[in-house]
Amino acid sequence: MDAFLLAHEPILRLGSFFVVLLAMAAAEVVSPRRRREIPRLLRWANNLALVALDTAILRLGLPVLAVGAALWAESARAGLFHLLDPPRWLAIAATVVVLDLLVYAQHRLFHAVPVLWRVHRVHHADLEFDVTTGVRFHPIEILLSMLLKTAAVVALGAPPEAVVLFEIVLNAMALFTHSNVKLPERVEALLRLVVVTPDMHRVHHSVRPIETDSNFGFNLSLWDRLFGTYRPAPFGGHEGMIIGIELFREPRELWLDRMLTQPFRGAASGRGRRIERGEADERAIERADEAARVAARELVDEGPPGARPREQTP
Ligand SMILES: [Zn+2]
Ligand SMILES: [Zn+2]
Repeated sequence: MDAFLLAHEPILRLGSFFVVLLAMAAAEVVSPRRRREIPRLLRWANNLALVALDTAILRLGLPVLAVGAALWAESARAGLFHLLDPPRWLAIAATVVVLDLLVYAQHRLFHAVPVLWRVHRVHHADLEFDVTTGVRFHPIEILLSMLLKTAAVVALGAPPEAVVLFEIVLNAMALFTHSNVKLPERVEALLRLVVVTPDMHRVHHSVRPIETDSNFGFNLSLWDRLFGTYRPAPFGGHEGMIIGIELFREPRELWLDRMLTQPFRGAASGRGRRIERGEADERAIERADEAARVAARELVDEGPPGARPREQTP
């Protein structure tokens, strides 16, 4: 398996990306979870342009990616697994689980540190939640993630085929967990015992800060349960909840050029971060709801501000 994975890495990654993208897009048409409000063409063209740009920057910007680092660690016999010398299958399984925990920890860090949140909020500023939201990440976040993953791969001495496997699974799961799909209730409940489901990750894209700061996992649902960040459902229900952040709610912000500059515009608090920790949940919910209602009204009123009819005063 290992030789096959390594020899066919680019085609396997690209192939699985398109197969899962098309499969989830079809599932979104057959069994949608939420009503679509924004034309698909606008979001899809820009979200997919961003992933194409990310891929190009990654290939050109970093001399060695995680898989290359794993091949080097293998030849140099560097890293933990070369000291412990576990069976190959165990090293592969451990690599996938440890990298998944790393991605979870990194995600929490990107929410907690204001300068990192600026970069990560591009992912959260999508006004709808569908399969293309899963690839909507700022190039700076993609580069930082790859550097961190590469360092972890060398420290572990991870088997190269495990790194390829993890990248393929992570990418496929990102598309699956962001899809606007309604799964049969039983299937959903069983799945989320082990892995992150679309209904679970959608909570993370809520405009309410306390919901944004929950369900950080990408693959295994274990980490959120273990570290107390699991939230089973959004307060407003999946159909009623508002997706996005308080900042960047105009449709123009969905364009590629705007996404690229979002980290450098507006306050770092652009998700209602002003809601202090320790404040009662109820008050935080009330304030986030009011902000979300205002934002949603603004999104519906399409005309320029001057063109809106003035409110009648008695
Ligand atoms: Zn996030
Ligand atoms: Zn997400």
